[in-house]
Amino acid sequence: MCGMVYQDPYTPERSYYECLDCGHRERADSLESCPECGGRTRNIAVPRE
Ligand SMILES: [Zn+2]
Repeated sequence: MCGMVYQDPYTPERSYYECLDCGHRERADSLESCPECGGRTRNIAVPRE
């Protein structure tokens, strides 16, 4: 599967990135810069029970 799907409800919580500048969050295998503002992102763990 590919395309411009930014929020797939069926994607498990594997890699989640949050922008340090605007707070935008996105699931991705690798995300070096924010797609919204181009700011720095960090990998965050979001365990859900
Ligand atoms: Zn941003």
